[in-house]
Amino acid sequence: MDKHRNSMDEFKQSRYNYRFQDEDQWIYFNGVTKKFIPIPSILHDMVETYLESPEKAMHESPSFFASMLDAGLLIKADQDELDVIRAQYNALRNDASYQLMLTLDGGFLPFSQNGHAQGHHTLMQLLPLHLERYIKENNIKHLQLEWIEKSMHPSNYEIIKELSSSALRLCKQEGVELSLRLTLQDGLFEDRLMALLTDLSVQSIRFALKNDFKQSVSSKQAFVDRIRIMMDRFPSLAFVFFAQENEEGSFLTSWIPIFNAKIEKSERQRISFFVRGHELFNSEQESAREKMLFKIHQDGYNLQWNNVLPSLCLTEKKHAFVMNAVGDVAKCLLTLDRTANGYLSSHGNIFWDETMARTDNEIPFFENVRCLLCKHLPICMGQCIPAKRNAKVIVNENDECLLPPWYISPAKVIELYCKQRLDRYLNEGNVDE
Ligand code: SF4
Repeated sequence: MDKHRNSMDEFKQSRYNYRFQDEDQWIYFNGVTKKFIPIPSILHDMVETYLESPEKAMHESPSFFASMLDAGLLIKADQDELDVIRAQYNALRNDASYQLMLTLDGGFLPFSQNGHAQGHHTLMQLLPLHLERYIKENNIKHLQLEWIEKSMHPSNYEIIKELSSSALRLCKQEGVELSLRLTLQDGLFEDRLMALLTDLSVQSIRFALKNDFKQSVSSKQAFVDRIRIMMDRFPSLAFVFFAQENEEGSFLTSWIPIFNAKIEKSERQRISFFVRGHELFNSEQESAREKMLFKIHQDGYNLQWNNVLPSLCLTEKKHAFVMNAVGDVAKCLLTLDRTANGYLSSHGNIFWDETMARTDNEIPFFENVRCLLCKHLPICMGQCIPAKRNAKVIVNENDECLLPPWYISPAKVIELYCKQRLDRYLNEGNVDE
């Protein structure tokens, strides 16, 4: 008897299989396992037959049948894949990683002070207490602190330095891994920022590139020259640049050639680009964006296809909050446009105003008919929904979803992800991370 079955077992094709042609091969990918199998084109018909008739595969080619089972292309007939996806969702939602976004000057935060702040108890006084308490009470293993500031304002510099250093000491003491991030709108080359990067081991800087098409080539060149200097000075620092597409032209034609001229290909994995435009592109614009992303990938930049998920919108994560200088707390940086609904108490815990809805309510965004029937569910986990909501886009039932942060179709993200893994396999002989 075959080791993969007993006489009661029946098999079926997964609902979440993708297939696409790549030159002389077909790539089969499963969204639940995130595994893929490349197949020579000549065997494509045979694989399709096996997916339709797993019994045939089992008898004719037991080892290939075993590979299809391992990749999740075939599953047991009585397996409910939605149960597996819900379990994946819960593991992601509850994982022991605390993501805390902080802002002192309001950063990009639209929310105003809501009067809950506890008098003189500012973030400066309460954050160390809060972190210690939260980490211990929730058995946190990884802390990600992200400072979101318009620029490195002089009055904030010392505070950021001191609070980050205190988090560093705490994490060391508690055996917690710490990641520090900075997201800035301006002041990327200020001395104060350089000093901070020297003092703290910041992992990544996120920065909005100006999509000003009137900006001269020489000023863009000067900008990239300074990035080059920063890369040399901080060899483990990663850069994430955001740009906004607009009708005046494409980001690719304006910035990428300048980056290419100044940054060696071997260094470009430290740089990621994410380009946003209007959430609902027509198919022509979407295809242009796919081509642009693929070109950026071919040029050697890190488009983070490896994060192909599933990853959740932070509002759905149990341990993810946004805080401002006076201790107002919210679940989401973007959706909160009037008031925060939580605040830090003088004991360092978060109190929530239960009269206001907050979105970590344990019901996944994807528990709706459209997502539950969608073949991209294990990749997307309903992520497109808040993205659209935030962009205040009215979602039409027939609109295809675009997956953040790339804002192309989930199927295309999978294709680019698999191609990248295969490239790496051909170059380094290792398809796994
Ligand atoms: S792609 Fe759209 S419909 Fe599908 S799971 Fe994501 S949000 Fe839901």
